[in-house]
Amino acid sequence: MEREPHDEASARALRTLVDASPVPMVVIEPDATVRLWNLASTRLFGWSAGEVVGRRIPIVPAHRLDECAGIRRAIVGGQTLTVVETERLRKDGTLVEVVISAAPLPDPDGVVRSMVLLFEDVTQRKDAEAKRSEALAAAERARADAEAASVAKDHFLAMLSHELRNPLAAIRNAVVTARLDGSRRERALEIAGRQADQLTRILDDLLDVARVSQGHLALRTERLYLSRIVELAVEATRGLMDERGHVLRVSLPHEGVEVEADASRIEQVIVNLLSNAAKYTEPGGRVDLSVERDGADVTVVVRDSGIGIAPEVLPKIFDLFVRADNSRNRAQGGLGIGLTLVRRLVELHGGRVDATSDGPGTGATFTVRLPALDATAEASLGGSTDRAPSRRARVVLVEDNPDAAESLLMLLELLGHQVRTFGDGVTALAAASANPPDVMIVDIGLPGIDGYEVARRARRDPALARVVLVALTGYGREEDKRDALRAGFDRHLVKPVEPGAIEGLVAEMASPNRTPSALH
Ligand code: ADP
Repeated sequence: MEREPHDEASARALRTLVDASPVPMVVIEPDATVRLWNLASTRLFGWSAGEVVGRRIPIVPAHRLDECAGIRRAIVGGQTLTVVETERLRKDGTLVEVVISAAPLPDPDGVVRSMVLLFEDVTQRKDAEAKRSEALAAAERARADAEAASVAKDHFLAMLSHELRNPLAAIRNAVVTARLDGSRRERALEIAGRQADQLTRILDDLLDVARVSQGHLALRTERLYLSRIVELAVEATRGLMDERGHVLRVSLPHEGVEVEADASRIEQVIVNLLSNAAKYTEPGGRVDLSVERDGADVTVVVRDSGIGIAPEVLPKIFDLFVRADNSRNRAQGGLGIGLTLVRRLVELHGGRVDATSDGPGTGATFTVRLPALDATAEASLGGSTDRAPSRRARVVLVEDNPDAAESLLMLLELLGHQVRTFGDGVTALAAASANPPDVMIVDIGLPGIDGYEVARRARRDPALARVVLVALTGYGREEDKRDALRAGFDRHLVKPVEPGAIEGLVAEMASPNRTPSALH
């Protein structure tokens, strides 16, 4: 009897110790009835000792019931074990990841009538591990990126020196030739000039890419007809197309589509795409360019019959310094800047550009999509038959190509103007002098006297003093404009003339308030 208080005291001491332990500790019987539940268990699982002692242990989720029965069987059999990577239920219904250490508590007779379970909450350790391996992976990625950037930079420098060395070598040779061989001086200087242009282009491209990347490239946008820009780009690449013997077909919409754009930048975009089409197509190939209105947008599609683009290269074709690495491609030189510039310039205009190809040997298609402006010219054309023009102008049209003459005649009449057409300058001048028009639109290449001579004679005729003279040519070069101005023209239009442009021009020229204007 004397020992009872002593046992009680040691049991209390044990209980205090167990509760003071930071380790969640539970004693259960083989049927899972809880005998002991310390404070750390309450902190981990949420149930108090009062709620669980004498009841079946509530922390086993349904999908772990078999696992628990197995653990209890093993312990009743005398084993000690550690269960890693498992989870138990909290009172609030959430799961907690734990490691369980389980051991038998045999009675003095050796029979296991209870067992102790110690739990370790490994959520935080797991989180920390996950974070550490994530950080490691990020560091690894950064290292790989830096390595790739360094390889790309070396590769780029090698390509750059190659690209610069070729024109420089040609210029140096040309200079020596010019110095030593007078008879070949002209030809040598021509080569040097062309190669210097090539160097300038490379440097311009590099600077442009840097400017766009740093957000320093400002667009000088204006409202303009896209087809007009396309024509300029086609002209600029005609030499390259001819040199490689390609057939270039251009299809423009019947009605002008206006865009808000920086003319020189959009021309640069289209020149780039056309040059690539020419470069990456075997000589004697086909390049098609079409401009089409597509809902609120306008698309410029450049399609070639060339070497095509492999599917694995396609997704990164617009990235900086990317060049498809095949031998025919290498033969073309280039730095892999052009398409990056194309994409950035198009995006600066609020548009986008895509590339498609069915793979090597099947050609490639590049589509530039730009937002189109409201089609005022089209709208006014559409309703023009029942709508009077701002002022009815009398027009003399001098054009020897019957189709060109007829189509322009129809357009002008549709716009409400009164038109007389003539196939040669002399007849046109006589008719105009007898009955002076407001505007004369004169083709430059004409049978007999050419358009410049028509302008000169018109300027000498007092009857035609107030007539506005408009030159119509296939050439848009500055010197063509200057020649036209010198001959006495007021304006210069490049074929094919946009309906909107001609409407605006004739209306403006026929206006009584018009002041004599300089050439545009
Ligand atoms: P570059 O022509 O100077 O190499 P780009 O940026 O203009 O640079 O083009 C990148 C790469 O895209 C080219 O090296 C070429 O491999 C591929 N590419 C561009 N246009 C075409 C095309 N029309 N057909 C096939 N491959 C093309």
